[in-house]
Formats: sequence, C-alpha cells, structure tokens
Amino acid sequence: MTPLIDNIVFDVMILTHYHLIWQVNSVIINAMIDVTLLGTAATMPLPERALSSVLLRYDGRTILFDCGEGTQTAARKAKVSLMKTDLIALTHYHGDHIFGLPGLLQTFGCMGRTDPLYICGPEGLKTAMEPIVMLAGPLPYRIFLSRMGEGGLEFGDAVLKGFNVEHRVPCFGYEFTLPRAGKFDPKKADALQVPLHERSVLQHGENITVGTKVITPSMVMGKERKGLKVVISGDTAYSKELITHAKDADLFICDATYGEDVYSEEAKLYGHSTFSDAAKMAKKAKVKRLWLTHFSQTMERPEDYLAYAWGSFPEAVAGEDGKTITLRFEDEEDA
Ligand SMILES: [Zn+2]
Ligand SMILES: [Zn+2]
Repeated sequence: MTPLIDNIVFDVMILTHYHLIWQVNSVIINAMIDVTLLGTAATMPLPERALSSVLLRYDGRTILFDCGEGTQTAARKAKVSLMKTDLIALTHYHGDHIFGLPGLLQTFGCMGRTDPLYICGPEGLKTAMEPIVMLAGPLPYRIFLSRMGEGGLEFGDAVLKGFNVEHRVPCFGYEFTLPRAGKFDPKKADALQVPLHERSVLQHGENITVGTKVITPSMVMGKERKGLKVVISGDTAYSKELITHAKDADLFICDATYGEDVYSEEAKLYGHSTFSDAAKMAKKAKVKRLWLTHFSQTMERPEDYLAYAWGSFPEAVAGEDGKTITLRFEDEEDA
C-alpha cells in the first residue's frame, strides 16, 4: 500500500539540471524526439478535438505542454502514455490549457504514482495550482511547482526554455533544444597520441591528460553540428520574441486561432494569431515545419483555411489531435 502524502508541498523552487538531469552525454547516437499533438482546440472542445495539449518525449523523459480538458482521452486515442510524465510545462492559466489537470493529477494518484511531478509555468503558477491540487484531493506523490532558471531546464543533453509571448495574460512559449556535438576526428586524436581507450572520454565532453598535456574535446572534435529544436508558441499574437526563439526550428507548433485574415484585428485584440500571422512568423524564423493549432470552434475543418498560411509558408499543415512526428538529426532522417 502506497502511503498517502496528505499535504502537497508547494515547493516553489528554481529547477535546474540538478532536479531533472539523468545523464550527461555529449555524443548522441540516433537521438530522436517524439512529439504528439493531443488537443488542438481553443476555448471549447469538439467531439474530435480536445483542448490544448502537446506531448514531447526524449530519451525516456516526458514533458506535457498544457493539459486542457480531454487530454487524457486524447492521449488514449493517440496511443501514448501520460503516466510517466516528468514535467508539465504550462504556457498560461486560461481554462482551455489547464482544466484537464485535476483529472490527470488524480489519475496519476489512482495509478499509484510515487515519483515527484514537476510543474512549471509563467508568473502566477502557485495561485493557479492551489485550487487544482485541492480538487485533485490527497495524492501519493509530491508536486514541485517550479520557476524556470535563466538557463532553462536541462534534460540530459537537451534544454527547455520558456520565454514571453504576446497574450492578454503572462504567457510562455517554449523552446526545446537538443544540441549536437561535432564529429570526432581520429586523425587529430592520432596526432595528439590520444590512447584508443581514452577517446570516448573526450567524446563525452571531458578532458584527459596525455603525459603532461591536457587534451580538451575541442582539440579532437569538429564544429558543432545542427541539432534539433521544437518550439511551442503558447497563446500569442504575432511576436518578435517568438520568431527569435523559433529560429531554424525543426518543428514550430503555433497558435492559429483564426483562419481568415478578416479576423486579424480580433486576433491581435485577444492575443492570438491568424493562419497568416503564424505562417509569417514561420517564414521569418526559417523553420522547417509549421503545425497550426488552437483552432476556434467556428472552423470545422481547419485544413480548408490553409491557403491563408500558404501565401507565406507553403509547407504549413493544420494540426489535428493525435498528429505525431519523430524528429531525428538531419543525416539520420532516413537511417
Ligand atoms: Zn487558449
Ligand atoms: Zn489563452
């Protein structure tokens, strides 16, 4: 029987690598990031469209971005598990992004979770979470409410950063980045007389000593190569900050509440984007893929409005619940 912890500790703390790190390894072989859109609706759920939520999995860790109503059933439909979620990263505290939380927290408890759960978000996290935790009732695990440190959160080699976007309330966009070290150059290692059994130490980012000489990884590794980046916009109007963070992203998931351009003033007023706004940001940021999401319930078939995005970004696609992608390093994509 798992002991119940009656008092959820609101440990407002700065999360650093100390809390979530599990392995430092600067040489990543066949690294992949799985991303699944769980809910793509704004404001109101529809039968086939749950409210906002995105699941990201990397190297055995799971981050859930937002948890709107219907997130649990959307995950079931998409055949992904939420049970091992390490971190819930909230973009903001509007109901369409958090009303799935009391149910999910309770489900974790029913399933006997004892691992701590970390939740982060912009200012106001504690005020938003208190009633949610109260509704969820006594839970057999601890919840840590976490502020994000300046350098973001480290997930092994990857880093998650929150940044401010343009909504009516404080709102974060999130950037998940996986850097990639340069190629190991055996000729340089030979020239420096690095013994074979010590080469993996350098590949793992640590110095070694050969005789009296200190050899650093940069002496035997090539230039850093293009890694992977996933950016999730949160609710936002057109935002320069977002463009900066989305630069060269492999996947950009963006608020696209309104399809037609006639709603551009309304979008700005309520802190949202049109299809065209999202596409313009994607173009400026030179992203590789754009998935539109957070659709108004007035758009029955968001894909019918894609022409509004294609003017600026012809590869734009309309997200849908369950849409999934596995991202790999460029030269490993077809491997
Ligand atoms: Zn929203
Ligand atoms: Zn909102």
